[in-house]
Amino acid sequence: MDQAGLGPSDRSPGLSERYAVIGNPVSHSRSPWIHARFAEQTAQKIEYGTLLSPVADFAATVGGFRAAGGRGLNVTLPFKEEAFALVDELSPRARAAGAVNTLIFSVGAMRGDNTDGCGLIRDVAANQGFGIAGRRVLLLGAGGAARGVLLPLLEESPAVITIANRTLDKANRMVGSLPPTWRGVPIVCGYSELEGQSFDLVINATSAGLGDTPLVLPRNLYLPGSLAYDMVYGRETAFLRAALAGGAARSSDGLGMLVEQAAESFFLWRGVRPVTATVLAALRAA
Ligand code: NAP
Repeated sequence: MDQAGLGPSDRSPGLSERYAVIGNPVSHSRSPWIHARFAEQTAQKIEYGTLLSPVADFAATVGGFRAAGGRGLNVTLPFKEEAFALVDELSPRARAAGAVNTLIFSVGAMRGDNTDGCGLIRDVAANQGFGIAGRRVLLLGAGGAARGVLLPLLEESPAVITIANRTLDKANRMVGSLPPTWRGVPIVCGYSELEGQSFDLVINATSAGLGDTPLVLPRNLYLPGSLAYDMVYGRETAFLRAALAGGAARSSDGLGMLVEQAAESFFLWRGVRPVTATVLAALRAA
Protein backbone atom coordinates (compact mmCIF):
# COMPACT_ATOMS: atom_id res chain seq x y z
CA MET A 1 0.00 0.00 0.00
CA ASP A 2 1.22 3.54 -0.73
CA GLN A 3 0.38 6.84 1.02
CA ALA A 4 -2.93 7.02 -0.85
CA GLY A 5 -3.90 3.58 0.39
CA LEU A 6 -3.62 2.17 -3.13
CA GLY A 7 -1.89 -1.10 -3.93
CA PRO A 8 0.16 -1.52 -7.10
CA SER A 9 -2.75 -3.13 -8.96
CA ASP A 10 -5.04 -0.23 -8.08
CA ARG A 11 -3.06 2.32 -10.06
CA SER A 12 -3.28 2.68 -13.83
CA PRO A 13 0.25 3.76 -14.84
CA GLY A 14 -0.66 5.00 -18.32
CA LEU A 15 -3.78 6.93 -17.40
CA SER A 16 -4.32 10.16 -15.53
CA GLU A 17 -6.04 9.69 -12.20
CA ARG A 18 -8.91 12.04 -11.43
CA TYR A 19 -9.29 14.46 -8.54
CA ALA A 20 -11.45 17.57 -8.04
CA VAL A 21 -12.59 20.18 -5.58
CA ILE A 22 -16.26 19.81 -4.69
CA GLY A 23 -18.29 22.76 -3.47
CA ASN A 24 -21.16 25.13 -4.18
CA PRO A 25 -20.19 27.55 -5.62
CA VAL A 26 -16.87 26.19 -6.85
CA SER A 27 -16.05 27.76 -10.22
CA HIS A 28 -13.92 30.48 -8.52
CA SER A 29 -11.61 27.89 -6.89
CA ARG A 30 -7.87 28.20 -7.48
CA SER A 31 -7.29 24.58 -6.46
CA PRO A 32 -7.26 23.21 -10.07
CA TRP A 33 -4.50 25.66 -11.00
CA ILE A 34 -2.48 24.85 -7.87
CA HIS A 35 -2.76 21.08 -8.32
CA ALA A 36 -1.85 21.36 -12.01
CA ARG A 37 1.42 23.10 -10.97
CA PHE A 38 2.08 20.42 -8.31
CA ALA A 39 1.48 17.67 -10.90
CA GLU A 40 3.86 19.28 -13.46
CA GLN A 41 6.52 19.75 -10.81
CA THR A 42 6.37 16.17 -9.51
CA ALA A 43 5.60 14.49 -12.88
CA GLN A 44 2.41 12.96 -11.49
CA LYS A 45 -0.24 12.06 -14.05
CA ILE A 46 -3.40 13.53 -12.63
CA GLU A 47 -6.41 15.51 -13.79
CA TYR A 48 -7.89 17.93 -11.25
CA GLY A 49 -11.09 19.85 -11.92
CA THR A 50 -14.04 21.46 -10.17
CA LEU A 51 -17.15 19.53 -9.19
CA LEU A 52 -20.30 21.55 -8.51
CA SER A 53 -22.62 19.67 -6.17
CA PRO A 54 -26.26 20.54 -5.55
CA VAL A 55 -26.52 21.56 -1.89
CA ALA A 56 -28.96 18.72 -1.14
CA ASP A 57 -27.03 16.08 -3.09
CA PHE A 58 -23.49 16.02 -1.73
CA ALA A 59 -23.31 12.28 -0.97
CA ALA A 60 -24.69 11.31 -4.39
CA THR A 61 -22.29 13.67 -6.20
CA VAL A 62 -19.31 12.22 -4.30
CA GLY A 63 -20.59 8.68 -5.04
CA GLY A 64 -20.91 9.44 -8.75
CA PHE A 65 -17.38 10.85 -8.95
CA ARG A 66 -15.95 7.87 -7.12
CA ALA A 67 -17.91 5.34 -9.23
CA ALA A 68 -16.52 7.00 -12.36
CA GLY A 69 -12.97 6.27 -11.15
CA GLY A 70 -12.21 9.42 -9.15
CA ARG A 71 -9.38 8.98 -6.63
CA GLY A 72 -9.97 11.85 -4.25
CA LEU A 73 -11.68 15.17 -3.60
CA ASN A 74 -10.99 18.41 -1.84
CA VAL A 75 -14.11 19.63 -0.07
CA THR A 76 -14.99 23.29 0.28
CA LEU A 77 -17.98 25.34 1.47
CA PRO A 78 -20.62 24.31 2.41
CA PHE A 79 -19.83 20.60 2.59
CA LYS A 80 -16.97 20.08 5.08
CA GLU A 81 -19.26 18.89 7.88
CA GLU A 82 -21.24 16.64 5.52
CA ALA A 83 -18.00 15.11 4.31
CA PHE A 84 -17.09 14.43 7.96
CA ALA A 85 -20.33 12.48 8.39
CA LEU A 86 -19.94 10.58 5.10
CA VAL A 87 -16.53 8.94 5.39
CA ASP A 88 -15.69 5.41 6.62
CA GLU A 89 -12.48 6.47 8.41
CA LEU A 90 -11.36 9.78 9.94
CA SER A 91 -7.83 10.99 10.61
CA PRO A 92 -7.26 12.28 14.18
CA ARG A 93 -6.98 15.87 12.92
CA ALA A 94 -10.27 15.58 10.99
CA ARG A 95 -11.94 14.07 14.06
CA ALA A 96 -10.74 16.98 16.22
CA ALA A 97 -11.87 19.49 13.59
CA GLY A 98 -15.31 17.92 13.07
CA ALA A 99 -14.79 18.74 9.39
CA VAL A 100 -13.17 17.09 6.38
CA ASN A 101 -11.50 18.95 3.51
CA THR A 102 -9.80 15.96 1.84
CA LEU A 103 -11.43 12.71 0.73
CA ILE A 104 -9.20 9.79 -0.18
CA PHE A 105 -10.78 6.91 -2.07
CA SER A 106 -9.06 3.58 -1.66
CA VAL A 107 -10.34 0.13 -2.39
CA GLY A 108 -13.40 -0.45 -0.21
CA ALA A 109 -13.05 2.67 1.95
CA MET A 110 -13.42 6.42 1.90
CA ARG A 111 -11.04 8.21 4.27
CA GLY A 112 -11.42 11.78 5.44
CA ASP A 113 -8.67 14.15 6.54
CA ASN A 114 -8.36 17.84 7.31
CA THR A 115 -5.31 19.68 5.99
CA ASP A 116 -6.41 23.27 6.78
CA GLY A 117 -4.63 23.43 10.14
CA CYS A 118 -1.39 22.02 8.86
CA GLY A 119 -1.65 24.49 5.93
CA LEU A 120 -1.97 27.43 8.31
CA ILE A 121 0.90 26.29 10.54
CA ARG A 122 3.23 25.75 7.58
CA ASP A 123 2.40 29.17 6.18
CA VAL A 124 2.85 31.01 9.48
CA ALA A 125 5.81 29.04 10.86
CA ALA A 126 7.76 27.97 7.75
CA ASN A 127 6.87 30.51 5.03
CA GLN A 128 6.73 33.53 7.30
CA GLY A 129 9.22 32.40 9.94
CA PHE A 130 6.84 33.25 12.77
CA GLY A 131 7.32 30.78 15.64
CA ILE A 132 4.11 30.10 17.57
CA ALA A 133 5.64 28.41 20.63
CA GLY A 134 5.43 30.64 23.71
CA ARG A 135 3.38 33.31 21.90
CA ARG A 136 -0.01 34.76 22.78
CA VAL A 137 -2.45 33.70 20.07
CA LEU A 138 -5.95 35.03 19.37
CA LEU A 139 -8.23 33.04 17.07
CA LEU A 140 -11.27 34.97 15.81
CA GLY A 141 -14.21 32.77 14.78
CA ALA A 142 -15.52 29.30 15.57
CA GLY A 143 -16.73 28.07 12.18
CA GLY A 144 -15.30 25.27 10.04
CA ALA A 145 -12.01 27.06 9.35
CA ALA A 146 -11.37 27.82 13.04
CA ARG A 147 -12.18 24.22 14.02
CA GLY A 148 -9.68 22.97 11.46
CA VAL A 149 -6.82 25.02 12.87
CA LEU A 150 -7.45 24.88 16.63
CA LEU A 151 -5.74 21.57 17.48
CA PRO A 152 -2.71 22.17 15.19
CA LEU A 153 -2.29 25.60 16.83
CA LEU A 154 -2.43 24.08 20.33
CA GLU A 155 0.15 21.49 19.30
CA GLU A 156 2.59 24.34 18.56
CA SER A 157 2.59 25.17 22.33
CA PRO A 158 1.53 28.82 22.39
CA ALA A 159 1.68 30.53 25.81
CA VAL A 160 -2.02 31.39 25.56
CA ILE A 161 -4.72 30.71 23.03
CA THR A 162 -7.89 32.76 23.22
CA ILE A 163 -10.88 32.17 20.96
CA ALA A 164 -13.29 35.03 20.40
CA ASN A 165 -16.57 34.47 18.60
CA ARG A 166 -19.88 36.25 18.16
CA THR A 167 -21.78 33.11 19.18
CA LEU A 168 -20.13 31.96 22.41
CA ASP A 169 -21.92 28.63 22.49
CA LYS A 170 -20.34 27.66 19.17
CA ALA A 171 -16.85 28.47 20.45
CA ASN A 172 -17.48 26.43 23.61
CA ARG A 173 -18.67 23.47 21.52
CA MET A 174 -15.54 23.75 19.39
CA VAL A 175 -13.34 23.52 22.51
CA GLY A 176 -15.51 20.68 23.85
CA SER A 177 -14.77 18.56 20.79
CA LEU A 178 -10.99 18.74 21.32
CA PRO A 179 -9.25 15.62 22.64
CA PRO A 180 -9.74 15.62 26.47
CA THR A 181 -6.17 16.71 27.33
CA TRP A 182 -6.60 19.95 25.37
CA ARG A 183 -10.10 20.94 26.47
CA GLY A 184 -9.07 23.10 29.43
CA VAL A 185 -6.40 25.03 27.54
CA PRO A 186 -8.14 27.58 25.25
CA ILE A 187 -9.89 30.60 26.75
CA VAL A 188 -13.24 31.42 25.13
CA CYS A 189 -14.70 34.93 25.14
CA GLY A 190 -16.82 37.44 23.27
CA TYR A 191 -15.27 40.33 21.31
CA SER A 192 -15.95 42.90 24.03
CA GLU A 193 -13.98 40.84 26.57
CA LEU A 194 -10.81 41.31 24.51
CA GLU A 195 -10.55 44.86 25.84
CA GLY A 196 -7.19 45.30 27.62
CA GLN A 197 -5.66 42.11 26.17
CA SER A 198 -2.89 41.94 23.56
CA PHE A 199 -1.47 39.20 21.38
CA ASP A 200 1.50 38.21 19.21
CA LEU A 201 -0.58 36.44 16.57
CA VAL A 202 -4.17 37.33 15.66
CA ILE A 203 -5.86 35.03 13.16
CA ASN A 204 -9.10 36.04 11.48
CA ALA A 205 -11.02 32.84 10.77
CA THR A 206 -14.38 34.58 10.44
CA SER A 207 -16.20 35.14 7.20
CA ALA A 208 -16.76 38.76 8.26
CA GLY A 209 -13.65 39.42 6.14
CA LEU A 210 -15.62 38.68 3.00
CA GLY A 211 -17.62 41.89 3.44
CA ASP A 212 -16.13 45.34 3.80
CA THR A 213 -17.34 45.90 7.36
CA PRO A 214 -14.45 45.12 9.71
CA LEU A 215 -14.87 43.16 12.91
CA VAL A 216 -15.10 45.57 15.81
CA LEU A 217 -11.98 44.82 17.85
CA PRO A 218 -10.52 46.73 20.80
CA ARG A 219 -7.51 49.02 20.48
CA ASN A 220 -4.05 47.88 21.55
CA LEU A 221 -4.71 44.28 20.53
CA TYR A 222 -1.26 43.90 18.94
CA LEU A 223 2.00 43.35 20.81
CA PRO A 224 5.30 44.61 19.31
CA GLY A 225 6.42 42.31 16.46
CA SER A 226 2.94 40.82 16.09
CA LEU A 227 1.46 39.19 13.00
CA ALA A 228 -2.14 39.69 11.82
CA TYR A 229 -3.29 36.79 9.64
CA ASP A 230 -6.51 36.77 7.61
CA MET A 231 -7.58 33.41 6.18
CA VAL A 232 -9.32 35.28 3.37
CA TYR A 233 -6.98 35.54 0.40
CA GLY A 234 -6.40 37.47 -2.76
CA ARG A 235 -7.03 40.95 -1.44
CA GLU A 236 -6.18 43.33 1.34
CA THR A 237 -9.10 43.02 3.76
CA ALA A 238 -10.60 45.50 6.18
CA PHE A 239 -9.28 43.29 9.02
CA LEU A 240 -5.69 43.54 7.77
CA ARG A 241 -5.96 47.28 7.11
CA ALA A 242 -7.26 47.84 10.64
CA ALA A 243 -4.56 45.56 12.10
CA LEU A 244 -1.70 47.46 10.47
CA ALA A 245 -3.23 50.78 11.52
CA GLY A 246 -3.69 49.38 15.04
CA GLY A 247 -0.09 48.32 15.67
CA ALA A 248 0.44 44.92 14.02
CA ALA A 249 4.02 44.71 12.76
CA ARG A 250 3.16 42.37 9.90
CA SER A 251 0.13 41.10 8.04
CA SER A 252 -0.67 38.19 5.78
CA ASP A 253 -3.64 36.99 3.80
CA GLY A 254 -4.52 33.28 3.58
CA LEU A 255 -3.08 32.52 0.14
CA GLY A 256 -0.11 30.64 1.63
CA MET A 257 -2.50 28.57 3.75
CA LEU A 258 -4.47 27.71 0.62
CA VAL A 259 -1.34 26.48 -1.18
CA GLU A 260 0.00 24.61 1.87
CA GLN A 261 -3.28 22.80 2.60
CA ALA A 262 -3.40 21.81 -1.08
CA ALA A 263 0.17 20.48 -0.87
CA GLU A 264 -0.75 18.33 2.11
CA SER A 265 -3.79 16.92 0.24
CA PHE A 266 -1.56 16.20 -2.78
CA PHE A 267 0.84 14.36 -0.48
CA LEU A 268 -2.00 12.30 1.02
CA TRP A 269 -3.17 11.27 -2.45
CA ARG A 270 0.12 10.84 -4.30
CA GLY A 271 2.73 10.22 -1.58
CA VAL A 272 4.90 13.01 -3.04
CA ARG A 273 5.42 16.39 -1.39
CA PRO A 274 5.48 19.29 -3.87
CA VAL A 275 7.63 22.39 -3.36
CA THR A 276 5.17 25.15 -2.50
CA ALA A 277 7.30 28.32 -2.66
CA THR A 278 7.37 28.61 -6.46
CA VAL A 279 3.65 27.86 -6.76
CA LEU A 280 2.79 30.45 -4.10
CA ALA A 281 5.02 33.05 -5.77
CA ALA A 282 3.43 32.40 -9.18
CA LEU A 283 -0.07 32.61 -7.71
CA ARG A 284 0.77 35.92 -6.02
CA ALA A 285 2.24 37.31 -9.19
CA ALA A 286 -0.90 36.33 -11.11
P1 NAP B 1 -18.18 29.39 8.61
O1 NAP B 1 -18.12 27.98 9.07
O2 NAP B 1 -19.40 29.89 7.93
O3 NAP B 1 -17.89 30.29 9.94
C1 NAP B 1 -18.01 31.68 9.87
C2 NAP B 1 -17.44 32.32 11.15
O4 NAP B 1 -17.45 33.73 10.94
C3 NAP B 1 -18.26 32.07 12.41
O5 NAP B 1 -17.40 32.03 13.51
C4 NAP B 1 -19.16 33.31 12.48
O6 NAP B 1 -19.56 33.66 13.77
C5 NAP B 1 -18.19 34.36 11.99
N1 NAP B 1 -18.85 35.55 11.42
C6 NAP B 1 -19.48 35.65 10.23
N2 NAP B 1 -19.89 36.91 10.03
C7 NAP B 1 -19.51 37.63 11.14
C8 NAP B 1 -19.63 38.98 11.51
N3 NAP B 1 -20.23 39.88 10.74
N4 NAP B 1 -19.10 39.36 12.71
C9 NAP B 1 -18.48 38.46 13.50
N5 NAP B 1 -18.33 37.16 13.19
C10 NAP B 1 -18.83 36.75 12.01
O7 NAP B 1 -16.98 29.72 7.62
P2 NAP B 1 -15.54 29.01 7.58
O8 NAP B 1 -15.57 27.81 6.72
O9 NAP B 1 -15.07 28.85 8.97
O10 NAP B 1 -14.65 30.10 6.79
C11 NAP B 1 -14.24 31.30 7.42
C12 NAP B 1 -13.28 32.05 6.50
O11 NAP B 1 -12.05 31.34 6.33
C13 NAP B 1 -13.85 32.27 5.10
O12 NAP B 1 -13.54 33.59 4.73
C14 NAP B 1 -13.07 31.27 4.24
O13 NAP B 1 -12.94 31.73 2.91
C15 NAP B 1 -11.72 31.26 4.95
N6 NAP B 1 -10.94 30.01 4.72
C16 NAP B 1 -9.70 30.12 4.13
C17 NAP B 1 -8.94 29.00 3.93
C18 NAP B 1 -7.58 29.12 3.28
O14 NAP B 1 -7.03 28.11 2.83
N7 NAP B 1 -7.00 30.32 3.22
C19 NAP B 1 -9.39 27.72 4.33
C20 NAP B 1 -10.64 27.64 4.95
C21 NAP B 1 -11.42 28.81 5.14
P3 NAP B 1 -20.88 32.96 14.44
O15 NAP B 1 -20.42 31.62 14.92
O16 NAP B 1 -21.24 33.89 15.53
O17 NAP B 1 -21.90 32.88 13.34
